[in-house]
Amino acid sequence: MNLKIFNKKGIVRVISAAVSITLVLLTVFAAIPVSSAQESLDDLKKQYSDLEKDVAANEKKLKQVQSQITSNEEKLKTITKDIDTIKSQIKILDQRIVVLDGSITELRPQISTLNTQIGEVEESIDKLTGEIEEAQTLASDTQDKLLERIREDYMAGGNATMIELLLSSEDLSTFLARMELMDRVSENDEQLIKDMEKRAEELNKLKEEADVQKADLQIKKGLLDSKMNQLKSNQYDLESSRSAASSKQATLDSRYAQVNEVLSELDEDSEAYQKQIARQRAEMEVLSREIDNYIAQNGSSKGEEVPEEYLVNRKSAGLIWPVPYSNTAITCHFGYYSNGQPHYGTDIVVRDANGNNISNGKNIVAAQSGKVIRAINNGGYNSGYGNYCIIDHGNGMLTLYAHCRTLTVYEGQIVGQGQKIAEIGLTGNTTGYHLHFEVRIKNADGSVSRVNPEGYVSPG
Ligand SMILES: [Zn+2]
Repeated sequence: MNLKIFNKKGIVRVISAAVSITLVLLTVFAAIPVSSAQESLDDLKKQYSDLEKDVAANEKKLKQVQSQITSNEEKLKTITKDIDTIKSQIKILDQRIVVLDGSITELRPQISTLNTQIGEVEESIDKLTGEIEEAQTLASDTQDKLLERIREDYMAGGNATMIELLLSSEDLSTFLARMELMDRVSENDEQLIKDMEKRAEELNKLKEEADVQKADLQIKKGLLDSKMNQLKSNQYDLESSRSAASSKQATLDSRYAQVNEVLSELDEDSEAYQKQIARQRAEMEVLSREIDNYIAQNGSSKGEEVPEEYLVNRKSAGLIWPVPYSNTAITCHFGYYSNGQPHYGTDIVVRDANGNNISNGKNIVAAQSGKVIRAINNGGYNSGYGNYCIIDHGNGMLTLYAHCRTLTVYEGQIVGQGQKIAEIGLTGNTTGYHLHFEVRIKNADGSVSRVNPEGYVSPG
């Protein structure tokens, strides 16, 4: 963005010029009687014109700066909104992270307790496994001893068939059943083997229970582990979202700072322009009374008899509409612009059937008969009026026609009511083709009033 749309040296130059012009003008007005000041008036008007051009240029620059301010303020608004959104997202993420951290903290001792319990169960399973092995070994040893003894008994008794039968037993119970049948087993050995069998059975039962318990604990631990993994993955997601949001906020913050800095520079520029314009306006205000002064010096006064010659070709007592076309419109009324600047006239345009402005070059006619007391047709800025003329209708009634493309009358000319005096143009301070039409009254006391033309005439 180019901030250097005006430079401070330029302003200083314009202001110094303005001040010196004012001093010159004030000196000239003070030193020379108005009647003989007429000759230097054109020079003064030229200087005044230049000053007004400067004001217009500065107003244009001010408008640019103000529109930049507006657009930057819009940007700031958008960024602030984005930052607020991000901040609330971060707040929500933080809240979720806190809740999640709490859940993880809660889950950790539960998992640790389960791990301890699983360790304890595993330990008791190991112990039971050892005891079962012991009991099985003991039973097996007892069986071996018993078999040994039987073998010795029957070797002595010579019953080889019985030994073979016993030795061919597939398991202990078959063996014992056969033993019992044979009724040759000692009560002690039988009891011992039964006890061992019972013990092994009990131990197996305990081990089965421990296995069930372990499986149960492992299921529980599995659930908690998967919950923990889920929480950790959520935590990871949330933390990366939060970190992304934080970096986005940082970017927005720095963008905000940048725009804000540009805005404060623009504010400074705007203030400088406004001060300069106010100063120039104050200087211009002194000069703008010039037309009133001119009328005060040269115009007729209210209550005075209207000179005979002014009445030539007077068709009606009142004023007629100065733009003699059927389709005219008022684009700006007498009063004040929205920016507080006074508007001392009525702006009139000519339109075609489609509403287009076709004013350029259209005729302007005298609203009333009288004498042209001023006709400025130099194409200059002329206090913003451009090419303009003033007609004195007598009895203190004067009309003014501004922004003309050209005048068709000269100073001192007598004009009839409805006579062409100029063409609509674009001279002076105007953005579109129109006639700026004023009515001024010179009162009996010599003071001049600027009045609303619509109080005297309406379109037609
Ligand atoms: Zn106007």
